[in-house]
Amino acid sequence: MDCVYCDSPVEEHHPMYVAEGAVDAEPTPFCNYACLTAYVEEAGLVDGACCNWSPDSAQQ
Ligand SMILES: [Zn+2]
Repeated sequence: MDCVYCDSPVEEHHPMYVAEGAVDAEPTPFCNYACLTAYVEEAGLVDGACCNWSPDSAQQ
């Protein structure tokens, strides 16, 4: 699988798989934690999140 953020094969790095919503949702692959956080910030997924791990990004 390729990282959804940088398109690198996740198996060559430290792959992480994130599944949103339902337990049977398709997992979203990231090659490392940096790509995961960058993707989340760009997608604005931190808005309205229950845990504000990045207050600057969470602000409207
Ligand atoms: Zn990546």
